[in-house]
Amino acid sequence: MEYLATIGLEIHAELATRTKMFCRSLNDPDEKRPNVNICPVCMGHPGTLPVINKEAVKHVLRVGTALGSQIADFSEFDRKNYFYPDIPKGYQISQYKYPLVSRGSLNGVAITRVHLEEDTARSTHDNTGKSLIDFNRAGLPLMELVTEPVIKSAEEAVAFARELRLLFRYLKASLANLEKGEMRVEANVSVAPANSKLGIKVEIKNLNSFKAVESAIQYEIKRQTEVLKSGGVIIQETRGWNENISQTFSQRSKEEANDYRYFPEPDLPKLKISEVEEFRNLASTLPELPWQKRERLLTNYD
Ligand code: ADP
Ligand code: MG
Repeated sequence: MEYLATIGLEIHAELATRTKMFCRSLNDPDEKRPNVNICPVCMGHPGTLPVINKEAVKHVLRVGTALGSQIADFSEFDRKNYFYPDIPKGYQISQYKYPLVSRGSLNGVAITRVHLEEDTARSTHDNTGKSLIDFNRAGLPLMELVTEPVIKSAEEAVAFARELRLLFRYLKASLANLEKGEMRVEANVSVAPANSKLGIKVEIKNLNSFKAVESAIQYEIKRQTEVLKSGGVIIQETRGWNENISQTFSQRSKEEANDYRYFPEPDLPKLKISEVEEFRNLASTLPELPWQKRERLLTNYD
């Protein structure tokens, strides 16, 4: 029997803004000293209130415009509740039901949505069992783009991610270095017999280079195909990527999945995009896009 792979990507990018997503702390990727760019808002102190960063919203809307997506007229933020040391408020402000951007495509891959959220703090784990947390990253504007499960190979997934990185850079939306975590790719991979419905998906996290994205997807397709061919079943889980041995490994199964209790963020106003002057005519603010430039160079210079 012939088995085919299906891949859907979830890509995060830190946006290149002057300040954080909901406060005036600086968004400075070059700051090396820990816990410098922080304030009561991004540290989650009681009584503080967030304010939406217009520059961040504009970046996401421009990306959506370049992708030929549908720009929301109504949009809102939601609270995604979970407890972890890197999330000072006990919840992340994200978007759930009403993302800023829906649909569109890139490299022939259909895009589901692009939404805006805030980044978490950066944790470092030393070899004595201690963990350190740097809150400079907490509250940075983070864009999340989700594709439909329509990608067929590791090569196609990497080509998509590369083109997306190029677009982010052309738009000056993000510096998008994978090695620095400014762009993070998560790959959902499933395998199923040809002409049958999609198989159970496995999500691979912590892919911090295009090489890792490619190798991890290739490994996972092979692993799942072998399991199915030998009569086994795939369990829905999150897997990490071990670069040293070039293998994915199980991190957590679906049974341990969080219940985030999403609800609309009561401390932020709803967004009526068309009512904001700067959000109109965004197409006219776009530079020549990568695929337009390629087309022009081919046409004019063969
Ligand atoms: P979840 O609810 O588990 O987060 P979503 O439907 O939101 O799942 O999809 C998350 C990502 O997984 C998307 O990129 C989507 O394209 C991809 N995906 C969904 N189902 C499959 C599948 N069967 N195989 C591969 N990728 C999938
Ligand atoms: Mg999802």
